Amino acid sequence: MSVVLLLSTALLLTSCGSLEDVDPTPACPPGVGRGIWDLGFLEGKDAGPGSTEARKLLENPNFGATPQAAGDLEEGIVDQRLIATLRVLTKERRICVETFKEGHYFLPGVPDGPLIPEGYGKAGGLPNTHYYGRAADVWWVDGKPVEGNATDPDVLEVGRILAGIPPEMRPDQIIGPPRWATALGYGRERGWVLAPGQLELHEDHIHIGYMDKE
Ligand SMILES: [Zn+2]
Repeated sequence: MSVVLLLSTALLLTSCGSLEDVDPTPACPPGVGRGIWDLGFLEGKDAGPGSTEARKLLENPNFGATPQAAGDLEEGIVDQRLIATLRVLTKERRICVETFKEGHYFLPGVPDGPLIPEGYGKAGGLPNTHYYGRAADVWWVDGKPVEGNATDPDVLEVGRILAGIPPEMRPDQIIGPPRWATALGYGRERGWVLAPGQLELHEDHIHIGYMDKE
């Protein structure tokens, strides 16, 4: 006689309690919000070229946008390379975009046009990448304002991630606070705009742009 022992294994569904450390703080500070997008857009009703990528970005809790910036994404105004770059950044950092096109002003009270206005440093007369939806201004990283935190490790990390993007996809207009640019130490060939006049105009945000059309 043989005794068959049925050994039952108890499946221990262990909840190790280590759900990924998700920081619940929104990517944009209180009062800035992450934008109000219409549900039609989220449901894909307006699915135009590339809108899926824009939608994925808007749905990422690491991405925050002001209503004007979210609106540009919804309307398909934002360059696909820029959306791809923001998706790379938001894999590792929380990013809040203040402006793409809508609401961007080089000179207070003067509506932006295709060219950077004369009087805006040496860049005056050059194409305005914001106007074409090819630039983003990032004002907050991981909930911290760029202003006053130029050498904060998380803010510097944004520069390092940008530098790690393959050259053919990397933005060619990367401008930030002077101390940020100095600490990173990258050269022009990696997309850094190092003209002192330009850096001084970016004490409070990081500008990420593409000079040429896709
Ligand atoms: Zn800008």
